[in-house]
Amino acid sequence: MKSNHENSRRHLAQSVILHGRKTGLPSPLPTSGDALIFFPMIRRYSDFDRILKNKQNRADRLKQAREKGRHTQNQWESLVCEFGGFCVRCGMNVLRVEEDHIVPIYLGGSDSIENIQPLCARCNACKGSETFNWKEYRREFGFV
Ligand SMILES: [Zn+2]
Repeated sequence: MKSNHENSRRHLAQSVILHGRKTGLPSPLPTSGDALIFFPMIRRYSDFDRILKNKQNRADRLKQAREKGRHTQNQWESLVCEFGGFCVRCGMNVLRVEEDHIVPIYLGGSDSIENIQPLCARCNACKGSETFNWKEYRREFGFV
């Protein structure tokens, strides 16, 4: 019986290989040479461990955020409808808005709908440590 860690390590390694080669065939664990080809930011094989650890930290934080409060898919869809599919930060109408935690979960924010706002991928990626509640701002002032 393999440990969970070993299993997820294998899974990550395989998804890297599958992604790189676009094949459905099962693959062996990559060597560090493979890792360099298919996952260029990986310099050493041990970087898999670091990536897995980050994924684990993220999962732990999300769990903590959900203990403080959580939202349903319906609540999220109503919120997207309320703003007509617009990003509340830049005001762009995009095909797909993303769930942004107003107070990021790594700063102790909750996963309840009060702490969620719809942002476009670009705003979500570049908002940095900003915790401004654009949702409330748009409710009060609209998109002018
Ligand atoms: Zn935006």
